[in-house]
Amino acid sequence: MTTPDHDEKTPFRELSVTFAGSVEVLSRTSDQIRVRMRCPACRGSTEDDIVYGVAGTKGGTTTLPLSGEQPFICACGYPHDGRPPEALDTGCGAYWSATVPS
Ligand SMILES: [Zn+2]
Ligand SMILES: [Zn+2]
Repeated sequence: MTTPDHDEKTPFRELSVTFAGSVEVLSRTSDQIRVRMRCPACRGSTEDDIVYGVAGTKGGTTTLPLSGEQPFICACGYPHDGRPPEALDTGCGAYWSATVPS
């Protein structure tokens, strides 16, 4: 997938940003949603899985609603200047909350 208007010049910064775009639901199962949206900072396409239920617990999983406001972090996959090599992030470091449609 191409993101021609991705801004690679955005320096890596762990920064809370305001999300004002739309969340696209790519797939949805009983315990996981895959969503896609555009990073507000670098405009890279970010996909994320929202998983419910704590790993390793069988039968006692929580059944939170698979919608509502969720935290996201940029995972555009592009290199950004200043990203520490040990960083787990694969994006520009921006994070935000976005509302997942139900
Ligand atoms: Zn980016
Ligand atoms: Zn980004």
